[in-house]
Amino acid sequence: MLHFRPLLLVITCLFSFLPGIALASTPMINVVPESTYPIEAQFQVFQDINNEYSFESIADLPGDQWQTRSSSDANFGFQDSYFWLQTLIANNTDEVKNFVVDLNYVYLDEVVFKATRQDGSVIELTTGDTKPFRPRHIDHPGNLFNFQLAPREQLPITIRVQTEGSMILPLRVWEEKAFFENATTELQIHFFYYGLVFTITLLNLAVFFSLRERLYLYYALAIAGYLLFFATNRGYLHQLLIPDAPDLNSRLFLISMPMLALFSLLFARNFLRTASHSPRLDWAIKAMIAFESFNLAMAVFGDYDATSRLSAVGAILLFSVLFLAGPISWYNHRRAGIFFTIAWSPLTFGVFATSARASGYLPNNFWTEYAMQIGSGLEAVILSLALAERLYREREKKIQAQKDSLLKEKQRNMTQALLTESVSRDPVTQLSNRNRFEWLVNDTLKANPGKRYFLTVARISRLEEITRTLGLSTADHVLRVAASRLSEEQLATGAAITHTNGEGREECLYQLSRNSFGVFTDMDAFEQDPDKFYAALKRLTNPVTIEGISIDLAPHFGCALYPNHGNKPDQLIRNALIALKVSSHSKGMMGIFQKSMDIYDEKRLTLATRLREALDKDALQLHYQPKVDINTGAVVGMEGLARWIDPERGFVPPDEFIPLAEQSDLINRLTLWAFERALKDYEQLHSTGYDGSISINISARDLLVANLDQQFKAILDRYTVPSDKIYLELTETGAMEDKEAGIASLNALVQLGLKIAIDDFGTGYSSLSYLQSLPATEIKLDRSLIENICTSDSSAVIVKTSIDMIHALGYNLVAEGVEDEASVNKLMEYHCDCFQGFWCCKPLPLADVTQWLENRQ
Ligand code: C2E
Ligand code: CA
Ligand code: CA
Repeated sequence: MLHFRPLLLVITCLFSFLPGIALASTPMINVVPESTYPIEAQFQVFQDINNEYSFESIADLPGDQWQTRSSSDANFGFQDSYFWLQTLIANNTDEVKNFVVDLNYVYLDEVVFKATRQDGSVIELTTGDTKPFRPRHIDHPGNLFNFQLAPREQLPITIRVQTEGSMILPLRVWEEKAFFENATTELQIHFFYYGLVFTITLLNLAVFFSLRERLYLYYALAIAGYLLFFATNRGYLHQLLIPDAPDLNSRLFLISMPMLALFSLLFARNFLRTASHSPRLDWAIKAMIAFESFNLAMAVFGDYDATSRLSAVGAILLFSVLFLAGPISWYNHRRAGIFFTIAWSPLTFGVFATSARASGYLPNNFWTEYAMQIGSGLEAVILSLALAERLYREREKKIQAQKDSLLKEKQRNMTQALLTESVSRDPVTQLSNRNRFEWLVNDTLKANPGKRYFLTVARISRLEEITRTLGLSTADHVLRVAASRLSEEQLATGAAITHTNGEGREECLYQLSRNSFGVFTDMDAFEQDPDKFYAALKRLTNPVTIEGISIDLAPHFGCALYPNHGNKPDQLIRNALIALKVSSHSKGMMGIFQKSMDIYDEKRLTLATRLREALDKDALQLHYQPKVDINTGAVVGMEGLARWIDPERGFVPPDEFIPLAEQSDLINRLTLWAFERALKDYEQLHSTGYDGSISINISARDLLVANLDQQFKAILDRYTVPSDKIYLELTETGAMEDKEAGIASLNALVQLGLKIAIDDFGTGYSSLSYLQSLPATEIKLDRSLIENICTSDSSAVIVKTSIDMIHALGYNLVAEGVEDEASVNKLMEYHCDCFQGFWCCKPLPLADVTQWLENRQ
């Protein structure tokens, strides 16, 4: 044998012994009619220590140099010299028979058979696993010598053997027929094994490709390693695939060992998850992996002998480590450890049995011959089962996890739905609220904008009275009864738009406020049977009886039409409410919205007229609020704010009449009036020693008046007030409407010497660069910013940054709406310049503010 059989080599060494050699005469193998095969041959053997004999010279070797052996006692250990065998086959039957002499150890490097018949003809065959596979007598990996014997013919056979491995010489004789019968069975066993292992390899590869889990790849490659090991080792690969390349066969055999070792280790490490529970074992496995990787590289490229030795050492280490790996993992409560222990044991036994056979400790029989194959086959099957079980369990786990997360998701959704449901429901009637109603209307209009609809609002007008007289719980009860009645009646008309709510109930009635409900109705459906609708309304006005008391609900109805009265839900609701309030209608009649009902518009019209009259009559007043220097407390300015008390309506707040004026031409008159009044009042204030400035508010609309500066100049000319004492306050947003014209107009005013202040800073959206384009000298921080500086950190930060920024741009800064001392202190801390506000002084009539100034001094 040219190469080592590392596994066998090492363990054979452990068991190695040299049996004593007994002397005997040339044995004859008699084949009689009843012979049973194989015949375990007796033969003579001679060890040619110096390799000096040839087939010619060996014939002359004295008889006492030969020893007699039987095939069951033919293990000579490691001997690399020539061994000569002699035997004599005698056909003692009356038939012509074909025989096979079988030197039944396939790993012998070179075997030469030679036989000379009585007629002088010679039969010769050279075989062995270092030789090209062919020519052979029989197409079989064994060392087989095939010949025919006539009845009573005898044939002396000489065999020369040379090998680098164990010199094991189990010589057997078969009748050809019996040999082939036996070989067929053997072949079946082998190919059952190869088929099994190959299938397992493919299966695991398939699992790997579908799951992309390396575990299965390692396993497939480890099993493929066994396959290669046995296919090369048993000679099948040589026979079937590479008959002319014995060296390649040896190389592949060499590669198969580190390959199966490396992937067995990778597999074990992954399968047992040794890193997580046994660091030392894991370390050992990793070291082995490194070792076997090196060994694999050597097997491919390295020196044959050296690699063989490495593999031999590797094999011992591999089996030791993996033999322990299973039990250690098992001990650490790894389920995989059980499988691994069970799977690895037969293979370990197999290796030992094979080695023991090779060293002569175990007899040469089916079990010892196939021990490793049986062991590795069992291992492959058991681990495949373990992998399948693991696959199954992981799949179950995944499915369970998916189920769990689905369930959780479902629960979350349900909770959320319940929550949304509950906040969108009226707690008393359980009806969906106004938001939901608006959605319904919106969705309906979106889906079918071309159709006609009307929106009805019903109000239980007497609800408050009922609450006062009968108590809250009775009122709730009344509400519930009313709601269910309304709902039923509306559904019965068949014209109401419905929606299926979260509980699967159809709803058409929505709660708009405690005592009012909304329904959205399809006009076409309504027109098919309007009487049905009106009859329903009528029935709704019937009193309800609660605890024996008959209660009149006095429901009122108002409606607005789509598209006539609006195309948005809130607009339709508002108009339906107006119709409900404004129209006087008897029981069961519905008020329908008309444009004329929009009293708000009417009111505004009359108000504008009255404002005009007030201006005509000079009935407005200007009140003054002081502007105080925050550091010195000195009053540095006075802001004039318009006040209007209408004889009929009483006090009308500026927020109401200023916008009204802005929408008509009245604003210009009002501004001019305020300007003139301010100048007049300033002269008076000045005469009492006041030397500060005076401000009036102007509107952005004023700036659109072409000759505003002329108008102002005309007034200025009539008074002695220096124009630089006068501030014009312009709101931030207002100025933006017409930028160019506005700026031009302001510049013209500045030309007159007037000063510009930006009012309500912080409420608009103007950019600073835009503000800078205005010729202003003062900026007033809006009340809404100041309001919360003591309670809200974000407000404080905004104010502080605004102040810093505005200062950086060179403006004077006034804080508006300061209502307490704390705010003043805070503003002082932020280096604000001036402030106004109720804390110091409310806007007062001239006389009062004069008095206030006096008191202050
Ligand atoms: P504005 O110019 O920002 O005036 C300040 C407003 O804040 C005044 O409201 C004033 O009474 C109020 N105020 C002052 N200090 C405090 C305070 O400490 N707390 C609170 N809560 N409020 C305070 P008013 O007088 O109702 O004026 C409202 C708005 O009407 C003015 O806001 C201004 O934009 C406009 N306005 C008033 N008079 C005129 C006018 O003659 N012409 C024009 N175009 N607009 C005017
Ligand atoms: Ca102002
Ligand atoms: Ca303001």
